Amino acid sequence: MTPVTLYAAPPRASRAGASARLAAVGDWLRLHQKAVLRLQWGVVLVYAVLLIVPAVMPLPDNAAHIWNDVSLFARFVFWGIWWPGVLISMLLFGRLWCGIFCPEGALTEMASKRGLGRAIPRWIRWQGWPFAAFVLTTVYGQLVSVYQYPLPALLILGGSTAAAIAVGYLYGRGHRVWCRYLCPVSGVFGLLAKLAPVHYRVDRGEWDQCPPQLGRTLSVSCAPMVPLRTMESASSCHMCGRCAGFRNAIELAARPPGSEIVEVSGKTANLWDTLLIVPGLMGVAVGAFHWASSPWFVALKQRAAVWLVGNGETWPLEQSLPWWLLTNYPAHNDVLSVLDGAMLLFYIAATAVIASVAILLPLALAARVVGPWSARRFHHLIHGLLPLAACGVILGLSAQTVTLLRTDGFRLAWANDVRMVALTLAAAWSLLLVWRIAGRYSAGPRRAAATAASSVAIAAGLLPWVLLFWVW
Ligand code: SF4
Repeated sequence: MTPVTLYAAPPRASRAGASARLAAVGDWLRLHQKAVLRLQWGVVLVYAVLLIVPAVMPLPDNAAHIWNDVSLFARFVFWGIWWPGVLISMLLFGRLWCGIFCPEGALTEMASKRGLGRAIPRWIRWQGWPFAAFVLTTVYGQLVSVYQYPLPALLILGGSTAAAIAVGYLYGRGHRVWCRYLCPVSGVFGLLAKLAPVHYRVDRGEWDQCPPQLGRTLSVSCAPMVPLRTMESASSCHMCGRCAGFRNAIELAARPPGSEIVEVSGKTANLWDTLLIVPGLMGVAVGAFHWASSPWFVALKQRAAVWLVGNGETWPLEQSLPWWLLTNYPAHNDVLSVLDGAMLLFYIAATAVIASVAILLPLALAARVVGPWSARRFHHLIHGLLPLAACGVILGLSAQTVTLLRTDGFRLAWANDVRMVALTLAAAWSLLLVWRIAGRYSAGPRRAAATAASSVAIAAGLLPWVLLFWVW
């Protein structure tokens, strides 16, 4: 439904200065939805070009550079700038990317407006999809070398886009069912958005006093189906601005960064969040960024190979698989054997298990120290690790940028200094958050002891990045 906009009711007089200007940005977005739509079509076009053109071009040779080869250029833009940029934007502006720029979000919503409008089935509403989809796409992406080759990128990202359109066509009426329940990165985006310094704030008192026909907009079609009156978290909101001014109660507003983690996560944090943060972002994703540089991976593989040869089983060392199952580019001397693939899976799984034990145990202790055991409190404390988890994934993705630029002759000697500063700030922010979370449940020595226990978890989360960037 197209939002109906009234101009009679101005932004609340109680707001002034920067607050009023920020609220006006939300109103501006609501009033310019057609411009947003044109922008979305533009992004869809760029996305399609970056995904399809490299897939139909020959693979670059050793003499190619990002400035003279379209495949390398697309790879640099896609993995080096686009994805790290999207993650950073979540920390700065919440899910503005999803609401304004994301090609999949735009396409699934357009399909849903013209689709069958069926009710959303229960299997789609399963809360575990964000975790399961994130782990599966991350691991599969490593098996097929999604960062290095255009065909796997087309398969994974293009497949995800096709699924988004199909889900949009089948379910919802102009809604983003795909984004809300199934998108492999929506869980991660929702968690990172909790840290953002801006959100759409709902004033419930104003909502109850102001009849719908007196707001600055008469109707709202919230694509990700956020329950507006009770919205406290930025996790599901796509920051599209369509509800800005509804009942004069919803406005784009600033908040202290991370305040949602301290004040709201205590009511919302659950097991799926914990799984996505610790085994997901701080385990599986770390293993995926690690394995190619890890001397442990090489040693494990050698031991397995020696054992297999000793037992007369050499086929896992010789057998390869099609490129869509396991990396297979013989012309570029890049072929993973079945043994490589099995060791890769083992390495990522082992990283996830070890990281989970090292991080979750101290946090379980911290949760117990501040009071009787409570799963909700435990999950709340784990939200405090989000700055470190986010920083790790952004640094891991940006390592692609650094590698590509170094291959092309840029020295980037400052890269490790930037990494050190980023990790130090992220770890300090996480420590501050767990201190403030612990303070909601206890005070004095118990609060200090819980923070000390949490610092062990933070150190465990830092260690893999120290190994990757400074030791190996
Ligand atoms: S709550 Fe819904 S309508 Fe409002 S800004 Fe967020 S996504 Fe848009």
